[in-house]
Amino acid sequence: MAYKLISIQQFHTFQLQANADRIVDLSTVDDLKALKGKRNGVDFVLIGQGSNCVFLEDFHGDIVVPRIFGKDFKETLNDYVVEVYASEAWHQFVSWLLDNGIYGLENLALIPGTVGAAPIQNIGAYGVEVERFIETVYYYDLDAGYEVALNREACKFGYRDSIFKHELKGNALITKVVFRIPKTWQPVCNYAGLAELNRPTAKQIFDRVIEIRQAKLPNPVELGNAGSFFKNPIIPNQQLENLLASNPDLPCYPAIEGYTKIAAGWLIDQCQLKGFNINDIAVHDKQALVLVNRTNNGLGTDLVRLVKHIQEVVYQKFGVKLQPEVRCFGHHGEIVESSEWERILA
Ligand code: FAD
Ligand code: NAP
Repeated sequence: MAYKLISIQQFHTFQLQANADRIVDLSTVDDLKALKGKRNGVDFVLIGQGSNCVFLEDFHGDIVVPRIFGKDFKETLNDYVVEVYASEAWHQFVSWLLDNGIYGLENLALIPGTVGAAPIQNIGAYGVEVERFIETVYYYDLDAGYEVALNREACKFGYRDSIFKHELKGNALITKVVFRIPKTWQPVCNYAGLAELNRPTAKQIFDRVIEIRQAKLPNPVELGNAGSFFKNPIIPNQQLENLLASNPDLPCYPAIEGYTKIAAGWLIDQCQLKGFNINDIAVHDKQALVLVNRTNNGLGTDLVRLVKHIQEVVYQKFGVKLQPEVRCFGHHGEIVESSEWERILA
């Protein structure tokens, strides 16, 4: 079948060369109604800033870009209640909160993406996850054809996880997020780089997070990437004990009861993979968890080969299977089956 090819290289921060049928802008909640009965990730792909998406090949469908803006807050006795529409840029939102004397989200400075995407993987950094401040997520339900409000508990937030990746996957287009942020501010400074700060203000934490991130992470505008490519594995404590016996330096942190989070970047680094590349797609020199598109000429097949190579080498050395955090897309939408990866390589 012949496809009208519109480049979507600039619609995802990894910037692989890929095309789609059309780019469709949505500027009002009413426009969403045209999508009733369809599925995000199958019939179309909704894109915020594309910082957690990689298009490995042409997508045979439409890219939908919501353009729903606006933010405001009101005060109660103890809290700020902040309403933000989905297309607002995350970092600018955090910065605006600080300008208005609302503190708590400063550890999440400089995370790319939109406010609407933040609840989906419960974005987190430097000891803070966004769920801590979310009161309600509003979404347009594609099956039902109307807007639904979900409170924090109903969002089933977990580590880089939420209901939007499971029961509501493909069916919920997030339109607005309401945050409840206590007026009593507690700094979170348990991560290296922040622990050294002495009685910091929220603005000092914000500035320090930006400084660390700029030193370590490639700016997607200059070097295509999608942030951490793999999730930090959460493994049973029994498996951890076995791993620690032969790898006493393995960085590990308590997770849910009986499980421990281990650093995926450390595992990749120990396999001497920093800088390893397949054609133009490489493991970043400064942070092994980040894969980069060095020249913007990289191909999806090279990325798939690199991902499989990393997974195999890490598994052979540590017995741990790394799972992508990034969401990958092919001709027919989001790729969840490994057979699709084989098809791309064939
Ligand atoms: P997109 O990539 O456009 O979309 C991601 C997925 O969500 C897609 O499946 C899309 O269909 C869906 N989606 C997007 N918007 C909506 C909506 N309104 N309604 C329903 N579905 C939607 N993540 C962290 O958690 N912590 C970090 O510290 C962090 N650092 C990063 C650093 C870099 C350099 C990069 C490139 C990425 C980083 N990320 C981090 C990942 C990324 O920034 C987040 O996942 C972000 O929330 C993605 O937002 P987005 O608008 O770009 O989403
Ligand atoms: P890092 O400081 O080198 O640490 C490596 C990993 O160990 C991190 O991923 C972090 O897990 C974990 N960790 C470190 N100190 C911890 C502590 N005190 N308590 C619990 N866990 C701890 O990591 P980095 O790559 O420079 O990233 C710094 C922060 O930015 C991390 O929170 C990371 O998640 C976030 N970040 C995320 C992305 C993304 O795309 N998802 C990209 C860049 C940075 P956590 O990841 O669970 O925090």
